[in-house]
Amino acid sequence: MEGNITLTIIKPGAVRNQYIGPILNMINESGFKIIAIKMIKMSLEQAGKFYAVHRSKPFYESLTEFMSSGPIVVAILEKENAVEEFRKLIGATNPAEAEEGTIRHRYAESIERNAVHGSDSEENAVIECDFFFSKSERLSYL
Ligand code: GDP
Repeated sequence: MEGNITLTIIKPGAVRNQYIGPILNMINESGFKIIAIKMIKMSLEQAGKFYAVHRSKPFYESLTEFMSSGPIVVAILEKENAVEEFRKLIGATNPAEAEEGTIRHRYAESIERNAVHGSDSEENAVIECDFFFSKSERLSYL
């Protein structure tokens, strides 16, 4: 499974703006299978843990407050070379730099409120999927 999965989060801003449907549609149309999905609200502590790698950054507090400010949709996506393929679909972190046709170009509000998360390596994808989902919450099509 490792190498074929990635974790996505539809962030609070995009959920608030009713973009869950359109974003999931783009994900499906790009050939990803959704093998686990749920809507949750993270606590500030959970958001801090998820973004621990950014603890020293000036935007850490604002980012973790935003990520715990409302419901999010978390999902495990399956496709060959999922991490790289999904990073292409979401576009650059800063929506001003995201290519046309990418999720962030279409749905992001700002660099912080950039609509979606996508794992940045195969190793982190596994860690992040385990962060949100138990084994029994995952379905495989294989
Ligand atoms: P990603 O892998 O494309 O999500 O980008 P990073 O891992 O570098 O950053 C994690 C998240 O922190 C991004 O998705 C943004 O929500 C937020 N972020 C990144 N850079 C900035 C910044 O310069 N300012 C603010 N306010 N937020 C940022």
